[in-house]
Formats: sequence, structure tokens, C-alpha cells
Amino acid sequence: MHSSVDRFLDELRTWIEIETPTHDREAVNRLGTLIEKTCRVGGLIVDKVPGAPGLGDTIRARSMAPNGRKGLLVLAHFDTVHPAGTLADGLPWRLEGDRLYGPGTSDMKACGLLVIEAWRTIRAEGSVPAYPITFLFTPDEEIGSPGSRAIIEEEARNAFAVLVVEAARDGGKIVTARKGVARFTVKAEGVASHAGTAFEKGHSAISEMARQIVHLDGLVDMEKGITLNVGLIEGGTAPNTVAQFCTIEVDVRVRTLDQAEPIVKAIHAIRPHDPNVRLTVEGGLNRPPFFPDAGSTALFEHARKLAAPIGIDLVGIHAGGGSDGNFTAALGVPTLDGLGVDGAGAHTLQEHIFVSSIEPRVDLFAALLAGTTPEDVAPAGRTR
Ligand SMILES: [Zn+2]
Repeated sequence: MHSSVDRFLDELRTWIEIETPTHDREAVNRLGTLIEKTCRVGGLIVDKVPGAPGLGDTIRARSMAPNGRKGLLVLAHFDTVHPAGTLADGLPWRLEGDRLYGPGTSDMKACGLLVIEAWRTIRAEGSVPAYPITFLFTPDEEIGSPGSRAIIEEEARNAFAVLVVEAARDGGKIVTARKGVARFTVKAEGVASHAGTAFEKGHSAISEMARQIVHLDGLVDMEKGITLNVGLIEGGTAPNTVAQFCTIEVDVRVRTLDQAEPIVKAIHAIRPHDPNVRLTVEGGLNRPPFFPDAGSTALFEHARKLAAPIGIDLVGIHAGGGSDGNFTAALGVPTLDGLGVDGAGAHTLQEHIFVSSIEPRVDLFAALLAGTTPEDVAPAGRTR
């Protein structure tokens, strides 16, 4: 590697020790300030884009002042799902063989640092491209990017390709498609009554919801890749009271945008079996699906070619989870995801990265930064 892995790990440790649960604005901004300084030292032009109320700011770093040319956009988030204190209790920083554990190691602090390292590499080699590279370090991906989505989309419109550095998976595979995600809250309001003395006067929100859940489960279509999960339920006050309220929260995943509309409609169209129970549905598509179009397919083939001499046989997979790449792909900008270090156990107390993947992945990312041009994302046989 162009710098030692040990130095990379020292730097990573500083990032991990600033724990950054999304809703801890102050902590997130503390790491943001460190990233800002690190980018500046690396010769990038840096500014801060204010976040949503209560959330951290986005750090934007550019290789050159905007010059009207479309460039490359790199996306990395630095918030994590782990609450403060996880590092001290539950997921301490530790190296076990090739595995380095810690909150946010693979999702995705090692990956954010990887892009800075790749940038330093091409700068030292004098292979910085003539088009602008923009790096966005975002503070709120883990909750759906409410504050950073607008700037991500704005920058994506100025990009000919987007590289998302979420961790690789299953032995280094990268992500060429992600499902779209929709979220819903369904509330039932019935009529409460004493379950012993006035049972017939009650209209149970729980009984109504139970029937609705069976109906909703029927919308799952595994063959088409449409899933629906009623993951939370709450209702009732006591065994001897007919329940007035019941609420469920629903997570829906779809492969294509065409699949999204009918299922969103179907969920909003549910009607009560018991006319004395009122149903309300809130929610919709949170992240559009990221399905490889011709441009993204060309970008993947390009990355495969760059990976081969580094000894990486780049394999693309379809992931069930969403990322900020869903937003950029939905705008029609060629997008590749999962380009970070190889890791596993994201969102759990087993989160780790494989140290041996750092060096080749930095090399691959440096090659992508230095050697991706608008022609590389033009579908075969077509120039734009
Ligand atoms: Zn992530």
C-alpha cells in the first residue's frame, strides 16, 4: 500500500472513538469537523452544508472549484446506528486475526477514510483527473437521509457517475442494485368497552388490525422480490377491555419502481371490516429502488476491468437494503455501490472489517477516481 495499513488503522481508531449515533448532532459534527480538517490537509476545497434540525452537517470536499463540467460524485456517511457507549460496552475496538471490530467500522467509517486515502494516493501520484471530483460525507444516512438528500441529489445532477462507498459484502462483492424501501404506519381506532359487562358495545381495534395484517401479508410476492413486514405492533390497554387503539408499522421492499406504485396504493386502500373501526394509513416510498440501467451496467463493467489487475474479481449483487445510491440511481445517474472495504455484521455487535481488504480496496478506489470518464458510463455502442 502507498501508506501503511497501520497508519490507516490509527486514523480509523480516532474516527471510531468519536461515536456518532445519527441523532447526536454534537457528536456527529465533532467527527464532521475532523473530516473537514483531514480533507483540507489533503488539498481538497471544503465547505459545510447545514443539516436538518437536530442533525449534523454534511461535509462537501471538492477536487477543484466547479467549472461547469460534469464530474464524479463520491458518497460516504459517517453516522452510525450504534448508541453512544457501544464502544465501551458491547463492541470494543479490537483486532482478532484479520477482523477489526468496532461500532461503525464497516458501516461505514473505514469506507469514508478509504476514499480520503485513495484521494491522497492519486494526488501523490499526480493522477488527479481533469474533471471535478466531489466527496460528500453525510450525517444522516441511517435514518433515510432527511437532511442530506437534497444536496446528494443536487450534486448527482452535476455528476456523470456516482460511487457509493458502503462496505463490500460476502467476500468483497459490490452492489449493483438495491431494493426500494417504503414505510407505513397504520392506525386503527375502534370503540372501547368492558369485555365482561358490555362486550357487545365494543369494536376492537386489535381484531380489526389482525384481519388487516393477514390481508397485508398477502401482498408479499417472493418471486417478484416484493416483501412486506409488519415489524411493530402496539395496542390495547388491558385483557378485560375491548381495545380502542392498535397501531402497526410496516416495511415494504420492491425491486423496481413499477412495483412500488401498486403496493403503495394497495396499502392506502385498506378498508375496515368492522364499519365502527376507523383506519388511517400514513407513509409511502422512502427510497426508490436502484435497478441497474445501461449506464450503471457500463460503470460496473468498467470497474471490473480496473479491478482485475489488482487481483479483485469484482462481482455484483442485488442487496435488499437501501442506501443513498438509491436516490442518485433514481435520477438516472450511473451508480455503483458497495465499493468500500470488505466487512460484515453491520448494525450488530459483531460489526467488523477485514483488514486484508483495506489495501486492495484503496487501490481499486484510487483507480476508479483517476480513471473513470464519461465515456466509461456510456452504454455500449452509444456515445453521449
Ligand atoms: Zn451505511
